[in-house]
Amino acid sequence: MDTTVAYFHPFFHPETVKRDFEQIRSVGASNIVYAIQEQEEQRLSRDLERGLRQAADVGLKVHLSLGRYGNLFAGPVLMPSWYTFHHPESRVQDRHGRYHSMSCYNHESFRSWLFAEIEHHLTTYPVHGIVLDEPRGPDVTCFCSVCRALCPDVMDLEHFRRRSLIEFLGELFACIKRVNSSLKTTIVLLPQDLDLLDELITIPHLDTIGCHLFWQLLHEDISMVEKWGHRVVQAARQYEKRSQLWLQNYNLDQGTEELLEDSFIQIQAADPDEIACYYYWRNNVDPERVWQETRNLLRRVPRRQLHWRTTASHIAIPQMPKLDPASEI
Ligand SMILES: [Zn+2]
Repeated sequence: MDTTVAYFHPFFHPETVKRDFEQIRSVGASNIVYAIQEQEEQRLSRDLERGLRQAADVGLKVHLSLGRYGNLFAGPVLMPSWYTFHHPESRVQDRHGRYHSMSCYNHESFRSWLFAEIEHHLTTYPVHGIVLDEPRGPDVTCFCSVCRALCPDVMDLEHFRRRSLIEFLGELFACIKRVNSSLKTTIVLLPQDLDLLDELITIPHLDTIGCHLFWQLLHEDISMVEKWGHRVVQAARQYEKRSQLWLQNYNLDQGTEELLEDSFIQIQAADPDEIACYYYWRNNVDPERVWQETRNLLRRVPRRQLHWRTTASHIAIPQMPKLDPASEI
């Protein structure tokens, strides 16, 4: 089982980043998710490059999350999409003619821009893949001129919206694989969007399907963690995709903090390929205690070598960078 940790902190202070990455590595994590906002890169390119190299230096693979691009994905900062702001004509329009604050993925100009951005990041920085975080589902049927031209049958527009979402995601992942076929593609869903699973698993260039098992945030019983988890793992296995289950180690008060172990055990019981969580993420009553508890739990994760798949080649054993025990704080 692999461990992935979301690192939603700035790269400005290299010493702090070094300490954080060493801590993350020392709990056995092999991947981090780092989120970028679309307007960020032009101002932070040196910080981005240095931070990403620091991750590589300690053996962490970086998966870049497209924070709120086109307002279609989630992101750590509640900042609207620059593209959508500058291209209001690209917005989704509902049956009453009202505009919604996200770009319609059927606009060719939006796709071209998005795919060019992705290609730029993948060819400029040392990243291992792209994450789509909580993509907006087909909840609002779009009646924009592009959608109506592509689907003249108005009665079919609702289904067209869903079909075209899967087609759009398929094209996006294919774009990533065209840059480099070894790059990894991940999509992470909210539990309420799990009805998309059956269609998502058919996308050939999608490698990993994740789910945010945020029971407390979603006001659900903790027993849902295992139920959601099993559903994702089963679906992923069916099409030989990887599964990634997220532990909610944020927004916890003392009462819910005590249930962190319980939710972790439920995730383990679902037996995913990857377990994921956050490094010091927001709104915990006691941030230090939550991270310490998270570290203790992550140390129980069976290490990758035990589950290594033999599809690779004659090079049997993967080289894992050595960890310096002294680096653990
Ligand atoms: Zn549309």
